Amino acid sequence: MNARQCMSCGTQEAMQHFERRSLTVDYKNVSRWVHDIAGWECKACGEIIFDNDTDSAERYSDAGDKLLEECFQVMGAEMKRIRRKLHLTQKEAVKLLSGGGHNAFSRYERGELPPPQPLFNLMRLLDRHPHLLAEIHAINDGTDLRRLLAAHFPEQETAQA
Ligand SMILES: [Zn+2]
Repeated sequence: MNARQCMSCGTQEAMQHFERRSLTVDYKNVSRWVHDIAGWECKACGEIIFDNDTDSAERYSDAGDKLLEECFQVMGAEMKRIRRKLHLTQKEAVKLLSGGGHNAFSRYERGELPPPQPLFNLMRLLDRHPHLLAEIHAINDGTDLRRLLAAHFPEQETAQA
C-alpha cells in the first residue's frame, strides 16, 4: 500500500501502513495490550488510524471499555468494603465524606461511575487508618471551623451550636 497524506497534521505521504502491531489501552496508570492491530501511522505526528477492513478499531475500543468497566468495578467494590468497615450507611458516607447527590455512593459502589480521585484517596486512607474517621466527624460538625474562625477573627463572638 502507498503512503498517504496525514489528515491530522497535513504532511504529504506521511501515513504508513502497519499490521500485527500491539498497542495499549490506558486508564490512569493501568495499561493493557491489544494485539494484532492493523492501521496507518503518521511518521510526522504519530497519528494512528485503524484499518477499516479489519476489526482493529472495534477490538481496541472494546478493550478500552472493558478496562474502564473493570477499573470502575474494583474501585466500587473497594468503596463498599471500606464504607462497611467504617460502619457507615451510603447516606452517612455521602454526608460525611463526599457531598454531592444522595445516591452518589450507590453509583460508585455499583461501578456506574468512578469515584472522584480525592474521595477514593480518602477511602483508601481511612481503610488503613480508620480511627481518622473521628477527626472527620469533628471537622464536619463545625468544631474545626469554629476554632479556625476564632483564630482568624478573635474579635467576633461566635455562638456555640
Ligand atoms: Zn500527521
